[in-house]
Amino acid sequence: MASKQYFTLKEVRLNNNCPECYSNDGLVLTFKQRFVENSFYKAISTDRVEEMHCHTCHTDIFPIRWTDGIDQVVAYQRRAVQSKPKSLKLKKLAWVFIIVDLLIIVLIVLFSMGILTF
Ligand SMILES: [Zn+2]
Repeated sequence: MASKQYFTLKEVRLNNNCPECYSNDGLVLTFKQRFVENSFYKAISTDRVEEMHCHTCHTDIFPIRWTDGIDQVVAYQRRAVQSKPKSLKLKKLAWVFIIVDLLIIVLIVLFSMGILTF
């Protein structure tokens, strides 16, 4: 039920030449951070990925194609971009489950102590 998703942290336009089409105004580096969302919670993890896309030739530029110049810029940007802190947010459904569980436990305790009888 849980699916891995990413949200965009930052997009950076690079002045480097594209390794595919040699255009110097098409490269965009995107930093993404992973989060997990399901019916119960939304959790942000510290996992990050980087993607590079050239908007001139519409090609995804994989790290294997990066030139030394691109590597340097990516390394610099990697340090400059702040990740969002790890977090976990419970959703309403999770709270309902927790409260229902608590109520059941309280009822069982009261019943076993003889305070509550049917
Ligand atoms: Zn290109």
